[in-house]
Amino acid sequence: MIEIKILIIEDEYGLADAIAETLKKENFTVKIETDGERGEDEALTDMYDLILLDIMLPNRDGFKILKNLRQAKNKTPIIILTAKSEIYDKLNGLENGADDYITKPFHMKELVARVKVVLKRGINIEDTNILQYSDLTLDVKTGKIICGNSEISINGKEQELLEVLLLNKSNIVDREVLANKIWGYDSEAEYNNVEVYVSFLRKKLKILQSKVKIKAVRGIGYKLEEIK
Ligand code: CA
Repeated sequence: MIEIKILIIEDEYGLADAIAETLKKENFTVKIETDGERGEDEALTDMYDLILLDIMLPNRDGFKILKNLRQAKNKTPIIILTAKSEIYDKLNGLENGADDYITKPFHMKELVARVKVVLKRGINIEDTNILQYSDLTLDVKTGKIICGNSEISINGKEQELLEVLLLNKSNIVDREVLANKIWGYDSEAEYNNVEVYVSFLRKKLKILQSKVKIKAVRGIGYKLEEIK
C-alpha cells in the first residue's frame, strides 16, 4: 500500500490532534503544524498528498498560504477548514485554488469522506471501493452500480458524480461543489454539465428500479433520497 501523507495546518491543538488521530486510524501518515508560516514552509516541501488548512492562524492566514502555494505552483490538494460558514470564505477559497472546504464544527466521518474524495482524484484508495446507500451499491473499481439482482455500468464523470452523492448520503451537495470537484471549477457551464449528468444517472437508477432518487434542491444542489 502507498503511504499517503496529510499535512494539518491548524492552531487549535485539540482539534488538530483529534483530526490526526482519526486520520491515523484510516492509515494515513499525518503531520501537524500550528503556525501559519511554518505550515506554509512545510507544505512547500511538496511531500504531502493532501493539506487540511485552517483559515485563522498565527503569523499567516490560510488564504495567504493557499495563494502562496498556488503561486509557487504547488498543486497539493487542499481542503479548507473554516469556522465561518459564510459564502464569501467558501468562494474565496475555491477561487484561490482550494479543492474543497469543510465548515467547523464537522463530524470526523464527514472529514474522512471528503479527504478520500479529494485524494481519490490523484491516488487510488483501496478501502473506498464500495459505496452504498439504501438499495444501491457502487463498486468504484469496476464502475458498476448494483441494485438487487440488476447491475449497470457507469464511467467517467457519471461515476464521479454518483460517488460524491453516495459519500454524502442524504445530505445536500452544493452544485458548485459538484462542479468544482468533477470539472475542476464552477461556472454556469459546469452547472449545466452537472444537470446533464444528473439526468443520465436518473435514467440508470430508473432502469435498475432503485428506491434511490436524485432530488434537486432548488438553487442549492442535489441529494439522494430513498423513496419508501
Ligand atoms: Ca484557527
